[in-house]
Order: sequence, then C-alpha cells, then structure tokens
Amino acid sequence: MPLTVAIVGSGPSAFYAAEALLETGEVAVDLIERLPTPFGLIRGGVAPDHQHTKRVEKSYTRIAQSAGVRFLGNVEVGRDVALDELRAAYDAVVLATGAPLDRALGIKGEDKRGVYGSAAFVGWYNGHPDFAALAPDLNTTAVVVIGNGNVAIDIARVLVKTPAEMTETDLVDYAARAINASPLTDVYMIGRRGPVEAKFTNVELREMGKLADCAPLVDAADLPATVEGVMPDRDRRVRERNLATLREFAAQEPGARRKRVHFRFFLKPVEILGGARVEGIRLENTRTGGKLDLACGAVIPAIGYRSQPIPGAPFDAARALAPNEDGRVAPGLYAVGWIKRGPLGVIGSNKPDGDIVAKRIRAECPPANRPGPAALDKLLIARGVRVVSFADWLKIDAAERATAAPGAPRRKCTRIADMLAAIEP
Ligand SMILES: Cc1cc2nc3c(=O)[nH]c(=O)nc-3n(C[C@H](O)[C@H](O)[C@H](O)COP(=O)(O)OP(=O)(O)OC[C@H]3O[C@@H](n4cnc5c(N)ncnc54)[C@H](O)[C@@H]3O)c2cc1C
Repeated sequence: MPLTVAIVGSGPSAFYAAEALLETGEVAVDLIERLPTPFGLIRGGVAPDHQHTKRVEKSYTRIAQSAGVRFLGNVEVGRDVALDELRAAYDAVVLATGAPLDRALGIKGEDKRGVYGSAAFVGWYNGHPDFAALAPDLNTTAVVVIGNGNVAIDIARVLVKTPAEMTETDLVDYAARAINASPLTDVYMIGRRGPVEAKFTNVELREMGKLADCAPLVDAADLPATVEGVMPDRDRRVRERNLATLREFAAQEPGARRKRVHFRFFLKPVEILGGARVEGIRLENTRTGGKLDLACGAVIPAIGYRSQPIPGAPFDAARALAPNEDGRVAPGLYAVGWIKRGPLGVIGSNKPDGDIVAKRIRAECPPANRPGPAALDKLLIARGVRVVSFADWLKIDAAERATAAPGAPRRKCTRIADMLAAIEP
C-alpha cells in the first residue's frame, strides 16, 4: 500500500520534497498548484535574462514524470479544495506555498500610484497571471529600487538592458514594450546599510559592470578600506569580493552610456513624495541623519516577501510563515521552503527541507489505506474544476516555445484563460 502525500505548491521546495519522498519507498505524491503552470518562482520570479538558472526545471520535469507523482495544476487549496479535505484523504500533507506577498515599507506615501512592490513588478515582467495587468507607469527618467539584494539587482538590470541584450530571454511582450518605450535613464538602488552589508551575490553585482548601454555609479567615499568585524571566512570573502567590484565601479568612467545605475548606501526611505502619484522619495542618511530628496516617477521596494495564511493551517502572522518544529506543523501536516523558513536562500536551500520532511513523514505517518488521489479527483470533478495535468502543461510549454520570437526560449502565456485554451483539443 503506497504512502499518499499531497504537496501544496509546485515551486522548488515542492519538487525537492517529492523527490525525497520517492527515495523513501512506495509513494503516491500529488503536487497541487493554483496556477496551470508548474515551477513557482523559477517561472515567475527568476529573472527572464537568467535562463541558465531556469534550467533546473529540467530536473523538476523528470520528478513530475516519475511513477507515483502527479501534477494537478489550476487547483487552489483554500478555493477549490479545503486543506481539511486533503488532510482527511492523504496520509500526509506538505505545505510548499512560498511567500508571494510583498513586505510593506511602512512609510508615508506608500499608497501613491507609481509604487510597485517587487513581487508585483517581477511578477509583471515575468508574466505571472496575478500581475499581468499591473501596467506600471514607466513614463519617467528615474526609478528608485529600494533594497540591496539580488531581487533589487534583477529589477534594475531588466530595466536598463538594451532590447538586444534581452533578445534571448522570456521577458513578456507587454513588459518589453513598456521598458523600451520608457525614457528611463537613471535607476537608483537604495541600501539602508553599507556596501559591506549588501546582500548581492558577486556574480550578479559584476554583471552590472558589463552592460551594453548602462554605467554602474558608486561613490568611492561610501566604500571602506577593509571588511571590518568578526564573521565566518566565507562571508568575509563574499563581502571582500563585492567591495572589490564596487571599487572597480567607482573608478570607472561612465562614458557615453545612456543609462546609469546608482548604488547609494546608508540611506533609508522615510516618505514617498508627490500628489496622487509618485514624484520623488525622501531618504534619510543613516549615519548623519541628513535628509535627501530624489526626484523619480516610480519606486520599487524590493525589501522581502511574506507568506500568506492557507485557510485551515496554523499561521504565525508576526513571522509570516507556518509555525513548525523542524518542518512539522501539526500531526500529518508539514511545511517546506519559504512558507517553512521565510523568504531566504537560493533555489538549492529548499532541498534539505524536502529531505527532512520526507524522513519525518515516513517515520510519523504510516500508510493507512486512505483514498488520497482518488478522493481528490472525485471532489474536483464534482466541483467542475478544470485540472491541468503535467501532460497538459507540456502542451502549454510547447505552444509557448512554438510562438517564441527569434532567439527567445518562449513567448509566455500570461492569462489563465489562454493557458486553458492552449490545452483544449
Ligand atoms: C524575484 C526572485 C528571484 C529569484 N531568483 C533566484 C535566482 O536567480 N537563483 C536562486 O537560486 N534563487 C532565486 N530566488 C529564490 C527562489 O526562487 C526561492 O528559493 C524558491 O522559489 C522558494 O521555493 P518555494 O517552493 O518555497 O516557493 P515558490 O517558488 O514561490 O513556490 C510556491 C508555489 O506554491 C503555489 N501556491 C501558493 N499558494 C497555493 C495554494 N493555496 N494552492 C496551491 N498552490 C499554491 C504558488 O503558485 C507557487 O507555484 C528568487 C526569488 C525571487 C522572489
């Protein structure tokens, strides 16, 4: 009798949990995903010009096609099926729902038109159906991106690359049109702390020095001579590398390049300025307390993400995650990935979560001859839900690839209705 497990979500953490469960013995795993498309932030978060990172989808595809694994797309837990129904039907349920919401800045003026959280903005240029209608107004020469992590750098890079640099990407058409039509010349990246504390990885930072028509600008006065403080050697090396890259940027002549990315440190946003829409941002120097107003037409806070509660599951609102003890949320209910740990780490950081939970489920949830997949199918048929199978997804995938512009990997479907139309016979 196989162990039956429902995994809610189909991002990296869901696939690593499925893979780990397969390694523990006979198992029937259902990956239940609210979108018709799998892979979570690999499709909807990872930058469109970082196709090498998206290659991990190949190994997820192998997992999805393994005996004992099913993908049920277009099924939202909490809307189409209740968590309690899953818990009654399966031996165990694993939450892998990520952290899809933006953390708020918590400053005056944040509700003005022209402020777009990074989840929304990245979702928009990546064609996530939730954000395809965002239509950000980029009719401005200056955009401020708040945050000093890789998401902030992704956003800045996508905004300043030339159309030629974006040819081999899956940037969606409407975003390419809006970015190419924008008079944007200056992107300001604002960090509350200093260059040593910035969370960029060095590969991403160095990329900013190799752009065709954009110069990275850094004020040498912001750069300390050495990395001070006690820290593991590995952290020190990362920080020293970033400092060296920033020094190179500070020494570079911007030349005749049309766009500039300004790396500005020790500044915290205190107010978004303007009338109904953004006209600027007020920043406070965290070392001197002095104020600085920057004129800009859009502000994109990239300061982190929050999970959202899954109806029927415990939720820690203060930490914005499912409270868990080493992956266990409640009897028979587990969590992996960003809903378990918060929005930290790279794709591979989700793998150990799956290993831990798979072992725990094997030890704590012996197969009890529950109806599992058959019970879910019956519920979904009764409710008239159009379930998207993995074979269906491969049809959407093929349609996207078939319509790709020359050099591009795919032309993304951004509306659920279009995705469903692509799989009708
Ligand atoms: C903008 C951005 C760029 C990134 N770029 C990189 C990068 O270049 N390299 C790197 O290593 N890491 C990158 N990361 C980090 C990486 O994407 C995450 O570590 C990883 O995606 C987290 O996996 P997850 O499975 O927890 O969540 P997610 O990938 O968010 O997957 C969650 C899934 O659950 C689904 N879901 C949510 N609620 C429900 C529900 N109620 N019912 C059914 N399904 C539901 C969602 O639709 C989604 O598919 C990036 C992150 C972001 C935000």
